[in-house]
Amino acid sequence: MVSGGGCIDDDIVTVLWTAEQLSDKVAEMASQITQDFDDSSDSPVIVGVATGAFMFMADLVRKVKLPVTVDFVRAESYASGTVSSGSPKISCDVKLDVSGKHVILVEDIVDTGNTVARLVSYLEGKGSTSVSVCTLLDKPARREVNLKLLGDGKFYSGFQCPDSFVVGYGLDFNEQYRNLPYIGVLKPEIYK
Ligand code: 5GP
Repeated sequence: MVSGGGCIDDDIVTVLWTAEQLSDKVAEMASQITQDFDDSSDSPVIVGVATGAFMFMADLVRKVKLPVTVDFVRAESYASGTVSSGSPKISCDVKLDVSGKHVILVEDIVDTGNTVARLVSYLEGKGSTSVSVCTLLDKPARREVNLKLLGDGKFYSGFQCPDSFVVGYGLDFNEQYRNLPYIGVLKPEIYK
């Protein structure tokens, strides 16, 4: 049961990364992206995976010192709860034409890898020159898919996440907790 009122911080058992640590990591990742795409003749398209990546995406693009275009895609992998469905569906497409473009797909977390693998092949199918993945969190313990990036695609990963269900900084449980400025582990009694 998600808390009805009161303080959402009370539902967090441990803070894993504070707002300041997140900000420092995002700056580091943005600077790496700036360096890696500085020579490219065409400005990259940065595609955020809604809704979870919205906060990371907003902070990241402000720190990328390159001309970029920005779009979102939506993939549904959880009906609700905390277990990935394994067969993500693309429920909202990109609006921009990504053919012949370098795409940087921005994710909140890569867990089983099914969502990102599906999106990468989808964007490659649209004729992108390369598809890179930029995820704030990587949870390798539960990986089911060995991600293959074609072309010059790169994999940027912020923090390695323990095998716990985390919320905050865009990440939700039943659409709640996205507005926490930090990332923390949700008390198991909230979702059990
Ligand atoms: P995957 O397809 O890699 O299993 O799952 C990716 C999606 O699952 C992420 O975009 C995210 O929405 C969700 N997800 C995976 N692990 C967590 C977690 O610990 N917390 C939250 N809030 N979402 C997660």
